[in-house]
Amino acid sequence: MATKTTMTIKTTKKPAPPTNPAAPAASVTAPPIRGMIGSHCSAAGGIHNAIDEALALGLDCAQVFTKNQRQWSAPPLTDEAIRLYREAIARAGWNDLPQRVVSHNSYLVNLATPDPELRAKSIAAQRDELERCEALGIRWCVAHPGAHLGTPRAPKSPNSLRSEPSADERAGLERIARSLDEIHRSLKGVRAVTCLETTTGSGTNLGYDFRHLRIIRDLVREPERIAYCLDTCHIVSAGYDMGSDEAAEATLEEFRKVCGRDLLAVIHVNDSKAPPGSRVDRHEHIGMGTCGMACFRAIMLAPDLSLVPKILETEKADDPSGVPWDSVNAGRLRAILSPSAGPSPATTRQATGEPALPVTRKKAPAPKGAVKKNAR
Ligand SMILES: [Zn+2]
Ligand SMILES: [Zn+2]
Repeated sequence: MATKTTMTIKTTKKPAPPTNPAAPAASVTAPPIRGMIGSHCSAAGGIHNAIDEALALGLDCAQVFTKNQRQWSAPPLTDEAIRLYREAIARAGWNDLPQRVVSHNSYLVNLATPDPELRAKSIAAQRDELERCEALGIRWCVAHPGAHLGTPRAPKSPNSLRSEPSADERAGLERIARSLDEIHRSLKGVRAVTCLETTTGSGTNLGYDFRHLRIIRDLVREPERIAYCLDTCHIVSAGYDMGSDEAAEATLEEFRKVCGRDLLAVIHVNDSKAPPGSRVDRHEHIGMGTCGMACFRAIMLAPDLSLVPKILETEKADDPSGVPWDSVNAGRLRAILSPSAGPSPATTRQATGEPALPVTRKKAPAPKGAVKKNAR
């Protein structure tokens, strides 16, 4: 997390996109939503920069880390950081929908751990994350459920979906619920909701079966503070069938039936480099992996998911023709909605020789599972 000083310097150097100074920021209207597609954007130099990056890419929403996701503690958000963030949101016209920005918690957090010290640290970190979300007005905080750290299964053995959790798994699910209860008890009145994410089931990670997510929410004393995030790469690697239109629609329907119709708050739209059912978490660009376009068609065309933020956690940088991958991937998803709409604005600008959109590219911390450039 940058210091207050760094952020002030950054603001001086990089003024906000020109707006009419006479117009109050709140009057800005966001462009029409095109699929509610966003990306995990870099908060380097301040969280407001992530919003500006998403806007420059022509996206409808964004996911951010509100602090360094690989460290246990972070300095509190300064009033200045919050002000700059809220200004960026107003500039974007993103005050219209509460789900425009979602946060992702730290990868270190394991609410399922049997280790008391690690559990205490995890609870403190998740609590801090929800407080940050609250200060910023962020409603959804995506969190990995956790790993039970008991007897691991053989790495190559597939998940046994739709079956009763093992004793180790059940114990882990209960620890997650108790951890969440502790967090909720100490955060009365906070509206930020923890969105438990589907996982591939690698190691002893829980959440590979939709039923795990349901069980946790059922065990929590304040279930209204829990919602869900579905990651397409993760569910395919976990063994759910998204391989045809019928199968993908049936899998989504299974999620709704198991987890609840209105509780899918965030979707991570990632294709997968790994074989279906492999339990391996490696993200791929849309349409270039093993998820198949039927997977993304089912999501993009589901009426109940039209305003659910769909966040890309795929490799950043540019494609071989110099277009940001986020624009390419967003364009591929939008093309499902209107096949005749053509390429995304960034692509069009390149094609017509206009200068590319001023995308500020910083060294974004790669989302977990995102494959670094040239790394195969
Ligand atoms: Zn994800
Ligand atoms: Zn992943």
